[in-house]
Amino acid sequence: MPRSVIVIGGGIIGCATAYELAKAGCLVTLLERATPGAEASSAAAGILAPVGQTRRSDPYQKLALDSWRRYPDVARELRDLTGVDVEHMTAGTLYPISGKGEQGVAQEQLRWPLAKEMGMRVVEGRELRDMEPALAADITAALFVRGDHWINNQRLVTAYASAATERGVLIRTGIEVTRLIAEGSRVTGVVAAGERLEAEAVLLAAGAWSAPIAASIGLELPVVPVRGQMLAVSNVPALLRHAFHGHQGYLTPRPSGELLVGATVEHVGFERAMTPEGLAHLACKGGARRQLVNHEAQRETGIHPLRLSQQGHELAVR
Ligand SMILES: Cc1cc2nc3c(=O)[nH]c(=O)nc-3n(C[C@H](O)[C@H](O)[C@H](O)COP(=O)(O)OP(=O)(O)OC[C@H]3O[C@@H](n4cnc5c(N)ncnc54)[C@H](O)[C@@H]3O)c2cc1C
Repeated sequence: MPRSVIVIGGGIIGCATAYELAKAGCLVTLLERATPGAEASSAAAGILAPVGQTRRSDPYQKLALDSWRRYPDVARELRDLTGVDVEHMTAGTLYPISGKGEQGVAQEQLRWPLAKEMGMRVVEGRELRDMEPALAADITAALFVRGDHWINNQRLVTAYASAATERGVLIRTGIEVTRLIAEGSRVTGVVAAGERLEAEAVLLAAGAWSAPIAASIGLELPVVPVRGQMLAVSNVPALLRHAFHGHQGYLTPRPSGELLVGATVEHVGFERAMTPEGLAHLACKGGARRQLVNHEAQRETGIHPLRLSQQGHELAVR
């Protein structure tokens, strides 16, 4: 274990790792060019679904499962230390099933070794309707994954940043790392805002910006930016009790009654602006409207009809 570590980036990865390193006795400095959670970690839906609908048994899934198993304890630990409730919800996700092909896939998923631990089962007809009265009438069956969790990711970053500070991490905000310093094959420090900072180890946790920083010492990282737009419908009656992951998008209810509708996946480089087209896709084809919630529920949320206004453009979704 190194005695001193510089962490680049104050997203969920940087803040959580800084906290754990400090707990283990390291002297940690975290450098964040904006504020903790300024980028992807605040944009996310917070869904913790390590299995999803794809069967894999690689190191990535092992990491995802180990992480998922720790969440209840992490949520408790952060609340005890910082007083921040990260809204850890454990109600599970419904994945709609339509047609014989998808029924076959769902039956196969029930035979996965993890099916029992993840609480997987098929729910249909009346039972599904009772679980989620707001679902569109043509959704008649779903794979229910009881073990899927979700958290309020904005609160999670806040809690981790505050816990890290509590454990002695020095968080410096508004400071941008421009390059790494290497001696032989070891990274020994960084240059940030013209200042040279050194440590026994450097952790690069700058999310989508990690590749350009690594390139400063000639390293090629296979990391590319992906834009994801999401719609948050607030001040609605709590429509859904479970998360819902349809073919075109997902809905995640938060305890506040807010409903998150996500998400687009767009390869547009570092372009981060929301677009009327992206929001319309989420409200209409991609998620909230028609496919996922019934018409009465749409009226309650104000999703139907909806007017979106962005950067001088206005667009009606009907
Ligand atoms: C719409 C959307 C929905 C998502 N939903 C989910 C979900 O439901 N579940 C899930 O698990 N994941 C989800 N994700 C993915 C998740 O948000 C990311 O995987 C995660 O937040 C990445 O965290 P990070 O700390 O690596 O990066 P980031 O949160 O991007 O943090 C990187 C930090 O580094 C800082 N930084 C960058 N360059 C520098 C520099 N040169 N110097 C100093 N600081 C720098 C940035 O300001 C930023 O704060 C979603 C993503 C999006 C966009």
